[in-house]
Amino acid sequence: MSAASLRLRVAAGGLAALALGACATAAKLPVVGRPTLESADLIVVTARWGDTTAELARRFLGDARLAWMIEDYNDVTKLARGQTVVIPKRPWNPSGVYTNGYQLVPVLTYHDIGPQAKGRLVIGAKAFGEQMHYLKTHNYRVVSLEELHEFLQLKRQLPRRAVVLTFDDGHRSFLEYAYPVLKDLRFPATLFVYTDYVGSGRNALDWDDLARLDAEGFQVEGHTKTHGDLRRQPGESEADHARRLRAELEASQRLFQQRLGRPARFLAYPYGAADDAVLAHTRDSGFLGGLTVFREGNASFVPLFRIRRSQIYAEMTLEDFVKNLNTFAPEPIK
Ligand SMILES: [Zn+2]
Repeated sequence: MSAASLRLRVAAGGLAALALGACATAAKLPVVGRPTLESADLIVVTARWGDTTAELARRFLGDARLAWMIEDYNDVTKLARGQTVVIPKRPWNPSGVYTNGYQLVPVLTYHDIGPQAKGRLVIGAKAFGEQMHYLKTHNYRVVSLEELHEFLQLKRQLPRRAVVLTFDDGHRSFLEYAYPVLKDLRFPATLFVYTDYVGSGRNALDWDDLARLDAEGFQVEGHTKTHGDLRRQPGESEADHARRLRAELEASQRLFQQRLGRPARFLAYPYGAADDAVLAHTRDSGFLGGLTVFREGNASFVPLFRIRRSQIYAEMTLEDFVKNLNTFAPEPIK
């Protein structure tokens, strides 16, 4: 994008003029003694010593959490004094499709967490903590399932290194081992619970736990009633299959409505398994999306009822874990 094409106007007084349009709080800030350019879409500034992307996002976009917009647009994570920085004032590529490929948003799936790893599905608390800190220190941006859903409808641009976290089944260990780490790092997450398990014993979260988590912004979503494979089974008639699907989803949704005051909006298919009848039934039951366990990130054009997730297993090393964080699929336009 060339400067000439942007209908740039020179704000001779630097920030003073810019402040009027861009940021109501800018008037309180020291004036940058450099020419600053602004268009309807962009602001161009010269970084001062000590400027960070978060600070510029706070000053010019009104929210430090929008630092990723500056980082992605300029392809930087740190700023040097005197560096020219382009600050996009609004999303510029909601589809994540570029001339050389397209964005992938990994959705990671955890189950149980314990003091030590056990089997495939109980991941050790230390390994879990390391993985979360890896995301933080390597500049991944954990976004909510809700935000991914908006991306899949081309309604929201996501950071180029966006990742979604999900926890299946409703294990109580979430509170002990995941919750403090996620709170500390300010990572959103979604829990998929099957309602026969909720409140079923000391290893399961109960509805009070889920209501509290839901109120705190953790997303609680559906994983059926019994956790049975939803696909039509050998010897099962089409009518019996339809009846079973209806029973699984209706029973689960009734409890969501009673205990959380709303139905689940997303469904994680047990074992990630779904056939065409399951996809259609899920959609017709009012869900906004369905999630499989196909190990790959999500392009913006992935079907809403085939959202992909990568299961993280206890035996994975940090190196194995990182292989699930691919956020770009190169595919040059020919
Ligand atoms: Zn499950």
